[in-house]
Amino acid sequence: MKLRNSHLSLLPVILLLLVSCQPAQPPGPASQITVIEGATVIDGVSEAPIEDAVLVISGDTIRDIGKRGSFPIPAGARIVDAAGKVILPGMFGLHGHVGRTEGMESSEENFNRERVQRDANAYLYYGVTHVLSLGHDREPMADFLAGQRAGSAGGARLYTAGLGFGAQGGWPRNPYVNRPTTPEEARAMVQKEAAKHPRVLKIWADNRLGELPDFSPEIYGAVIEEARRHNLRVVAHAFYLEDAKELIRRGVVALAHSVLDKEVDEEFLTLAKENRITQVTTLAGHHVNISYADGPAFLDDPGLPLLFPATVLATVGSQEYREKLAGNPNMPRWRREYEIAAKNTAKVAAAGIPIAVGTDSGLPLRFPGLWEHREMELLVQAGLTPMEAIQAATINAARFLGVDNRYGTLAPGKVADFIVLHADPLADITNSRKIDAVWMNGKLVDRAALASGSAAAE
Ligand SMILES: [Zn+2]
Repeated sequence: MKLRNSHLSLLPVILLLLVSCQPAQPPGPASQITVIEGATVIDGVSEAPIEDAVLVISGDTIRDIGKRGSFPIPAGARIVDAAGKVILPGMFGLHGHVGRTEGMESSEENFNRERVQRDANAYLYYGVTHVLSLGHDREPMADFLAGQRAGSAGGARLYTAGLGFGAQGGWPRNPYVNRPTTPEEARAMVQKEAAKHPRVLKIWADNRLGELPDFSPEIYGAVIEEARRHNLRVVAHAFYLEDAKELIRRGVVALAHSVLDKEVDEEFLTLAKENRITQVTTLAGHHVNISYADGPAFLDDPGLPLLFPATVLATVGSQEYREKLAGNPNMPRWRREYEIAAKNTAKVAAAGIPIAVGTDSGLPLRFPGLWEHREMELLVQAGLTPMEAIQAATINAARFLGVDNRYGTLAPGKVADFIVLHADPLADITNSRKIDAVWMNGKLVDRAALASGSAAAE
């Protein structure tokens, strides 16, 4: 670049501008660096937590993480003392039904952008930073996601499966489901969904114990094949062992419920392993009526009255509601099915099939955010270690969504999304709900604003 003499006086300014426009900057000035020190860190990959750890955050990214003294602390950084606290990565939920519930009812009429935002806020309040919404999303979700991309919609990061696929006259009872009657129709419908760029597609193969029509494998097989042509993977809702096996043979990549009619057998486990299936357990969903009939301990969670309607909490906390549920003629079957689902969870885990947290959260009485913590409790009750349950809520789910290069673990180069706890979830997994703070994109989340609905996007 040549400068004429008369412009020489501008040279320092120009040089300064050039320097500040460098695309790949060295780590920013120390004033933009936050150091969180003294906590025990569960990074999501190491076998053991890092005691007395130091976490260096630059912008939205983790610059360094390790035991105190293993690297120099940048001079002039903002220091946050977290002695006595435990840190874990931001959590994931891979089975949400977002923006559809008001009070005790879920419906298509309820579905709007404000309720999507409300649920995204509740997830983030509980440290759930990523949620996959499974299969009913129309324009309000597209609007919300456009808002998140533009930075005007905050809360947890949502991912959509668009509109799902089910049998003609079958489950779910929802007018906004693709119901192909031929393979050709199935392909055309997949093309329409693919044009909306969902993260995955969803199919329901569930005849409700033979009461409703089956979704024929020939037709849902066409959904899966056509999805593959568009580089889309397919997640299935299924409860029954034979359905689950056929869905795997036809090419789904995840089961969004646990098998609950029979214990899974060798054939299932082999199919699931060979086809790299992710098991999204949804135990908290399967347990919902049992939870309320038994009078759940989680009803004293301090977040509930801040986030959810008092009338709903009063109802589910009442003796009358408990007794009504306990006396429901379906209760013995629900308990039996749950027992099988929990046993299958242990078998699937023992076979080395990745388990990821998903819960049916967002449906009535399945509180978004709290429910993902609840899933970890039930995974531990089913036989997983607390560390395995945490990995199901973090790295395993991040891998499934294909975002593990940036999220799901705490390591240099990853986005600084994490939860600060008052107590150790490895000692008692219910401690994951003893939340001191949530950080997202390297910033402290204003949880009070999320609870009051006044949270602004960044
Ligand atoms: Zn569901």
